[in-house]
Amino acid sequence: MFSATGSGTPQPCPVCNQTHLEVADLLGASAPDAWLAVTPGERLEAELTPDVCIMTDHGRTRHFIRGHIQLPVHDFTSEVFVWSVWVELDAEAMERVARSWSNPNRAAIPPIEGRLANELPYEKATRGLTITVHTRDPGLAPLLMVGEEHALAIEQREGIDLHRVAELEELLRR
Ligand SMILES: [Zn+2]
Repeated sequence: MFSATGSGTPQPCPVCNQTHLEVADLLGASAPDAWLAVTPGERLEAELTPDVCIMTDHGRTRHFIRGHIQLPVHDFTSEVFVWSVWVELDAEAMERVARSWSNPNRAAIPPIEGRLANELPYEKATRGLTITVHTRDPGLAPLLMVGEEHALAIEQREGIDLHRVAELEELLRR
């Protein structure tokens, strides 16, 4: 949670002049968007944990892992805002992730490419964006890098201000 309280007195936002008292530092989706599109029967057969989702979508097996897209937050130099989202991997990439999952050195495995599996509140679609997955040490969700030009990639590279975090929270709620 980001707080505008700072030294004790709430500071008004320089962008909208309101006070963002408490703003979420992590938002996202509890499942890939495709989870809602499969049939109830397929959902019953599927595997959905906080880290992995494997499901049959109209007869085709699909593989997803959850990771973090970190956006630096200008007002909080040592903190980041996190999009907790799902990435679709092909069977071979999923196999590589699964094989290294319990390896204490899994952060050393080469990055893996996948596609963003959630729509986020940006003007242009985010689902389908190329994502590079960087596995981190056990206990840490993989780090996701947006691999093509998009507003989300720019925000990941350049960071956002607290006002924007509050706006994203608001947009996601709609
Ligand atoms: Zn503001």
